[in-house]
Amino acid sequence: MEQDHGRSTFEELIMEALLCPSCQAELDTRSKEQTCGQCQANVRVTAICPTCQQELERLKACGAVDYFCNHCNSLISKRSVQFKAALV
Ligand SMILES: [Zn+2]
Ligand SMILES: [Zn+2]
Repeated sequence: MEQDHGRSTFEELIMEALLCPSCQAELDTRSKEQTCGQCQANVRVTAICPTCQQELERLKACGAVDYFCNHCNSLISKRSVQFKAALV
């Protein structure tokens, strides 16, 4: 009898949620400076290069956001960007 192990793609579906440092509400990683919808705190979102840990530059094109590392001189995939949130 053959059993189907149905490889789970669950891990891929989890987008690392960025949480408000103040109230742990979920934040939008696409905007750099934002106000938390829940606690109204001003939050600064920083995109970090997974390779060199430097801050990435956001390149906005046609509604999409790309991340570029000036240090590595390369475009960083959204999936590997690390986000940090700090209260302003
Ligand atoms: Zn909050
Ligand atoms: Zn880099």
